[in-house]
Amino acid sequence: MTLSAPLTTLKGVGPRVAERLEKLGLRRVEDLLFHLPYRYQDRTRVVPIGALRPGEEAVVEGEIQADDIKFGKRRSLLCRLGDGSGSLLLRFFHFNASQRAALARGKRLRCYGEVRRGPAMLEMVHPEYHLIDAEAQAPMEAHLTPIYPTTEGMAQKSLRQLIEQALQLLRQGRVADHLPPELLEEYHLPSLRHALLEMHQPAPHTPVAELLEGEHPARQRLALEELLAQHLSLRQLRHKVQQYSAPPLAPPGHLRQRLIDALPFALTGAQTRVMQEIDADLARPHPMQRLVQGDVGSGKTVVAAAAAAQAIEAGYQVAVMAPTELLAEQHRRNFTAWLEPLGLTSAWLSGKSGAKQRRENLALLAEGKAALAVGTHALFQDEVMFDRLGLVIVDEQHRFGVHQRLALREKGSRNGSVPHQLIMTATPIPRTLAMTAYADLDSSVIDELPPGRTPVETVAICDERRDEVVARVHRACVGERRQAYWVCTLIEESEALQCQAAEDTAALLTEALPELRIGLVHGRMKAAEKARVMAGFKAGELQLLVATTVIEVGVDVPNASLMIIENAERLGLAQLHQLRGRVGRGSVSSSCVLMYHKPLSQQGRARLAALRETNDGFEIARRDLALRGPGELLGTRQSGMLRLRVADLERDRDLLPDVARLATALLQRWPQHVAPLIQRWLGDRQRYGDV
Ligand code: ADP
Ligand code: MG
Repeated sequence: MTLSAPLTTLKGVGPRVAERLEKLGLRRVEDLLFHLPYRYQDRTRVVPIGALRPGEEAVVEGEIQADDIKFGKRRSLLCRLGDGSGSLLLRFFHFNASQRAALARGKRLRCYGEVRRGPAMLEMVHPEYHLIDAEAQAPMEAHLTPIYPTTEGMAQKSLRQLIEQALQLLRQGRVADHLPPELLEEYHLPSLRHALLEMHQPAPHTPVAELLEGEHPARQRLALEELLAQHLSLRQLRHKVQQYSAPPLAPPGHLRQRLIDALPFALTGAQTRVMQEIDADLARPHPMQRLVQGDVGSGKTVVAAAAAAQAIEAGYQVAVMAPTELLAEQHRRNFTAWLEPLGLTSAWLSGKSGAKQRRENLALLAEGKAALAVGTHALFQDEVMFDRLGLVIVDEQHRFGVHQRLALREKGSRNGSVPHQLIMTATPIPRTLAMTAYADLDSSVIDELPPGRTPVETVAICDERRDEVVARVHRACVGERRQAYWVCTLIEESEALQCQAAEDTAALLTEALPELRIGLVHGRMKAAEKARVMAGFKAGELQLLVATTVIEVGVDVPNASLMIIENAERLGLAQLHQLRGRVGRGSVSSSCVLMYHKPLSQQGRARLAALRETNDGFEIARRDLALRGPGELLGTRQSGMLRLRVADLERDRDLLPDVARLATALLQRWPQHVAPLIQRWLGDRQRYGDV
């Protein structure tokens, strides 16, 4: 038997059992070692009955002092067990005649079960029990009993026996420790063997809370190793991509200069700096992989357009991909407004383009007549062909998975040369997290907003005070001649219901505010209809825009100074921050009203407080991370990346700096350990790295 062998090589594992184990993510013998308990039972010692506390599970021993069958609502057998320190009631609802006979007065029992408060005294309901001899000592377990995550048809006991077979190999020293002794010593870490044995079979009195989620060295060692494997796999991916060639795009920059000269504003220092970082990447003969983070409104689009101009002047095509129709539409408008005056043609590919328009656009791209393609996911469909794709710009990357990013890269690959990639996100990622989640990317931060922006004043108001909110809209739109958004949200997944809610709200507001010109946009409207309403709002013909969260990204109307968000307590922090970013784009002071429905949960309260207290996207991301965890924040749940088994990015963030240092040490001095380490923790999941 070897560690890398499939589980069917183990005693007791046939195809049916193997299938169940597969559901737990267990395929190879080695995987069993890393399937860790989520709690423990203490069967190592007998607890005096007098010392029991409700809620705990324990082993007790004693003599049956009284027994009785009670005929109440349910017939039950009650036995009172005493050990001199106190007594405990054992309650059985199901029992047969021989059990009834065995559980007789004067018999000695050992029981294991959960203690709960009963009407008269502490009780155990249906404890595990067996009769014991008054004289001979029955042996106790030598270590805490592990309880593993399991699945239907896989009994705890069978799973434990399988894991025990793998632990045998570990005890025999047949499991390689990929962290060399020098590193273990330097970082004060226990050996793998020690850490795993301690996790699976902790000695009596081990502080289990620390072992499961605290600072116990065994857990920390495994968490660190897991984070290391993740980090190394991303570094490897990065390294692999660096082996590809990409067209160096370093033209004189005339086109870009003309674009900048035509802008009605001066670039911020941060925008200029990030443009230079991008230029340096584009000039290299290897693919750029750069993430540009910038808060909502920081001006990422113009930075992307400057990169596009650079690529186009060098004779290449550029693809701009956005996650939603609305955002893609917005980019199309911006990019064409900036690039068309420079004599460039662009193609538009959305899921909703008509057949004829689509054919024309596909031809423009394939023949190289269009320098720029803007669109949604529709950009990666098979029929889409580029003549010379040199740069891919992806907006709001966390909504696309790593796979999609790679697929788009593949699309542009020709004779071993792949396009450069620029990724933009308005969800700022805390640095330590970026190091683990985005170690395959370089990162730039636009950490400055254009001048003259005033922070959005945010208030939370209970929806019982809706009338006041309506009055406020009236004041803003009529009194101050501003514009406002009214965002309708529903927790239901159904888009139809969302749209219905927006329609109802629009009707109610039209009645309440008859002198206002009100528009409505939602996801079920035809693209042309949506565009017409948006254009009307942008032109100032409409004063109030009622919308679903489709307006979350990509809408830019500087005169809009008020946003109302309904059911704000149900949205995530990042989403609320994005929505709020639609106002405060001009120089007038703006406000955002978060309407909530009582009662507020603790999480809901924390989210609303965070938004009231800060406008800083990084701070909001940090709080979001604490509230929701990184999987949600990064949207990685869907993309299959960062499914951590032991580590937790929030809890273990102090380990992250060590991770990067350890990774460097391992790569330099023990490179042969890298591949097996990644294989151990990520298994087949690392396949996404094989472009
Ligand atoms: P985001 O980073 O949210 O994508 P945008 O690129 O959409 O931000 O920019 C938001 C708005 O700010 C746009 O109207 C854009 O034209 C404008 N803008 C961008 N850079 C500057 C700047 N340096 N000075 C003034 N306005 C700017
Ligand atoms: Mg943007």
